[in-house]
Amino acid sequence: MTTTGAPTAAPDALAGLIDLDHAATTPVRPEVLSAMAPFAEQRYGNPSGAHRLARDAVRALDEARERIAAALGCAPGEVVITSGGTESDNHAVAGGMPPRPGVPVCAATEHHAVLDTVRALDGRVVGVDDLGRVDPGELGATLSELGRRASVVSVMAANNETGVVTDLASVAEVVARHTPEVPAVPLHTDAVQAAAWLDPSAWAPADLISVSAHKLGGPKGVGALVVRHHVELEPLLHGGGQERGRRSGTVDVAGAVGLATALECVAADRGTVAKRVGAVRDRLRDRLVDSVDGLVVTVERQGLARGAGRVLPGILHVCIPGVESETLLFLLESAGVCASAASSCASGADRGSHVLAAMGVPADLAGGALRLSLGSDTTEDEVDRAAAAVADAVERLRSFP
Ligand code: PLP
Repeated sequence: MTTTGAPTAAPDALAGLIDLDHAATTPVRPEVLSAMAPFAEQRYGNPSGAHRLARDAVRALDEARERIAAALGCAPGEVVITSGGTESDNHAVAGGMPPRPGVPVCAATEHHAVLDTVRALDGRVVGVDDLGRVDPGELGATLSELGRRASVVSVMAANNETGVVTDLASVAEVVARHTPEVPAVPLHTDAVQAAAWLDPSAWAPADLISVSAHKLGGPKGVGALVVRHHVELEPLLHGGGQERGRRSGTVDVAGAVGLATALECVAADRGTVAKRVGAVRDRLRDRLVDSVDGLVVTVERQGLARGAGRVLPGILHVCIPGVESETLLFLLESAGVCASAASSCASGADRGSHVLAAMGVPADLAGGALRLSLGSDTTEDEVDRAAAAVADAVERLRSFP
């Protein structure tokens, strides 16, 4: 007897969970699901073909590309559809396959998709300030030393662990000042976390921009790399020459439609959602500070005044002395709260956070790191219950001899 792949209901184990790990991924918005459905069903054509089904897919893809471009603040011809943030970052940093000649440069707090690519290419990693923002003096000195050998500078728009937002205009100014050659060294920004919360002006100064649909209410496995017209980029993936030769592989039309719709949904209510979620995040902060002895709000310890507004509204990063992230996460999960210690790829807390280390957070404090990240629908009741669960777990851990 054959079994069909009928959709499975959510297992009971997921009922009632409080998800405070939205920076890892966030649910697909209903509008996105319904916009994508026709492209998985009747309108399933391959946009590389020439017949009626294929032409329908081409039209849908063109339209999605226009909507993505409008939401990201670029021209449709500058949008390359990719498989997500990791591919976009690898492509921007490497410049293609084989990699562009020269030395890529990035900040020490970049996501591993950037950092590990820079390291794989023997690039340069620049230090950061106490808040994890690239050190302009060190960036300038590195670029002056490299001269024409610098191939790309990659600095993220907002950090995925701490939520700290970068002033990209000032980074672009440092790059321009220290690389006066023509063509200038391109500035890449990983806007994977920023795009869920910030206006496109936040990444406007960049020449190459990475985004990922699943961080903002779209599907997993699709993203975009914005390549400004003046930037030369060779393909990373070779094959059928799709995406005007910049990215081979059958384009995921449903995914592109999903990304376009998710970006539009985010843009439509960005102001009100950011304000509401920021207030809920601050409430969580206050509850935790009041109920957990010695708890440190990481960005405040590092010098950012409470409410200074240079942190994404959805992220609260804390460090809890005398507690190990891994055991804390285990107890939180038993209490029905999903969170993480660092980025989702290092969430098991089994490798320490390179972000906190680069910011100069002492290792004993960083060992008790906890990233709580809220989604657009996270409620006051959820954060109140999560704060109580954290306080309870910390008390239990501290009571062990
Ligand atoms: N860049 C940042 C800042 C991220 O937070 C992530 C995901 O955690 C990525 C890149 C990777 O994106 P994706 O999961 O789409 O490959």
